[in-house]
Amino acid sequence: MSVWCPICGKEFKDGRGLAGHLRIHHLQVVTPKPQRMQAKIDTLKKENRELKERIAELEEENRLLSRKLERSYEI
Ligand SMILES: [Zn+2]
Repeated sequence: MSVWCPICGKEFKDGRGLAGHLRIHHLQVVTPKPQRMQAKIDTLKKENRELKERIAELEEENRLLSRKLERSYEI
């Protein structure tokens, strides 16, 4: 009984051949990230975004303080 690769349609004479093909040619597709892993990645991405915003805020604060400092020297 023949089997076909559900991704590229290649024909194999048994499931073992197909399994090997999937492992080699469609690695990303047949080993999807587990749900929990994806949730963790999403959380980290969100944290990353928040940290970037925080950094932007701190940089702005830094600029203001530097300007203040420069002004105090001028006096
Ligand atoms: Zn295939």
